[in-house]
Amino acid sequence: MNFWGYSISEARVIDYDKNDKSLATCLAQNAPSSKLCIGCGGCTATCTAGNLTEFNIRKLQMLVKRGENNEIRQQLHKCMLCGKCTLVCPRGVDTRKMILTLIDYLHRQSL
Ligand code: SF4
Ligand code: SF4
Repeated sequence: MNFWGYSISEARVIDYDKNDKSLATCLAQNAPSSKLCIGCGGCTATCTAGNLTEFNIRKLQMLVKRGENNEIRQQLHKCMLCGKCTLVCPRGVDTRKMILTLIDYLHRQSL
């Protein structure tokens, strides 16, 4: 709808109860340290891929919690698996293992 030059954005509801939790469950089982994340953004600040592309590893973790798997699929391949994010994480989250787990899970889904 368009009123006086303004358009009303469609409501975007994130319903955690109806989300696809398969990726979050897989991460909890195979990379349990992912549960320790406090969302500080240290990994994103140091990320090599993030310096060169729009890749954002903190956002990736949020997308996993929301079950937005399509965007995760589009983003994951940008990670270079350099491991810098794992080195700087103050909570000891094995972010590299987390990414490898996501890649493996999504690859098996597409077979
Ligand atoms: S650095 Fe660690 S705690 Fe901070 S957002 Fe990244 S994974 Fe989470
Ligand atoms: S392993 Fe991936 S997410 Fe972590 S710093 Fe390197 S490019 Fe970024």
